[in-house]
Amino acid sequence: MSQLNEAAQALKRGELVAFPTETVYGLGADALNPEAVCSIFKAKGRPNDNPLIVHIARLEALENLAVNIKPDVKKLAENFWPGPLTMILHKASIVPDETTAGLDTVAVRMPDNAIALELILKSGVPVAAPSANLSGKPSPTLAEHVLEDLNGKIPYIIDGGACRVGVESTVLDMTTEIPVILRPGGVTPEMLQQVIGKIMLDRSLTERQMVDKPRSPGMKYTHYKPKGEVTVVSGSESGVFQWINTNTGMDEKAGKKTAVIAANEHISFYNASNIIPYGSIYAPEQAAASIFRIFRDCDINGIEKIYIEAVPKKGIGLAVMNRIEKAAGGRIIRV
Ligand code: AMP
Ligand code: MG
Repeated sequence: MSQLNEAAQALKRGELVAFPTETVYGLGADALNPEAVCSIFKAKGRPNDNPLIVHIARLEALENLAVNIKPDVKKLAENFWPGPLTMILHKASIVPDETTAGLDTVAVRMPDNAIALELILKSGVPVAAPSANLSGKPSPTLAEHVLEDLNGKIPYIIDGGACRVGVESTVLDMTTEIPVILRPGGVTPEMLQQVIGKIMLDRSLTERQMVDKPRSPGMKYTHYKPKGEVTVVSGSESGVFQWINTNTGMDEKAGKKTAVIAANEHISFYNASNIIPYGSIYAPEQAAASIFRIFRDCDINGIEKIYIEAVPKKGIGLAVMNRIEKAAGGRIIRV
């Protein structure tokens, strides 16, 4: 593990280290070092009004980062940490503005990945880490994806294989009277409700139009986009098959390279030349684990038009559809 020690020392010195988590690969820096944090924004090309999530390895570390911590925060931490739940809390003054993009709140989580936890512990600092992709591109779920985007720009990438969850953490605002989900992720609304009762979904998740001033600044940016034009199609099974087949037929006639991304069970109903299964319709966690890799594969294969079958918005399906709808940038068809 001497390599992990070396990476931990680099973090402590203010350098950047990309590392695996259970959600996606993170690009880490010492969260309390403003210069180190600025270099994350620079490497990713991330707008600097988009705050970072601070990763910790021990619950005690929370006390340093946040103030006025409610009992429900502890309850959620006990139930879901380590795991894909980020909580927004009132920040302690030690956390620099660079990390929180000037907000008086800080986002904190404990990742469920042995390499990530050991790296954070060894570095001895809380680690600010957004996803380790260039801003706007699909999040990386393999070390190869990090290399594709950041090769030559960062000194360390730790390869921990494929990320188990595959979509980013749930972001839950714990500073309001009723906690609000700002971004759906691996910990579902149903799971949160079982532990703390009432929670709400942010307006930006339930309204179709873009909300002017979203409470999670990151939600206003186009995200997760492959280069090809993405269209999401939902409705009755036969309606979706027919609509997609008609459109891929027209595109292919016009010489466009098309792909259909669909449930395993529906693959045989499509005619396009590239048909990519995202997993079983009965197991949305499979779509979560595969969707960003599929987007990147479409880019590698020069796909110009991408049609995706909607995933039912249940459990982690809510998070998958949130990412797919963002990739589609409003091209959402209901048949
Ligand atoms: P990323 O790490 O790239 O997956 O993005 C982190 C997400 O958490 C973004 O959508 C941020 O806007 C959101 N976030 C981080 N800190 C805060 C905060 N203090 N308040 C609200 N949202 C936050
Ligand atoms: Mg990101």
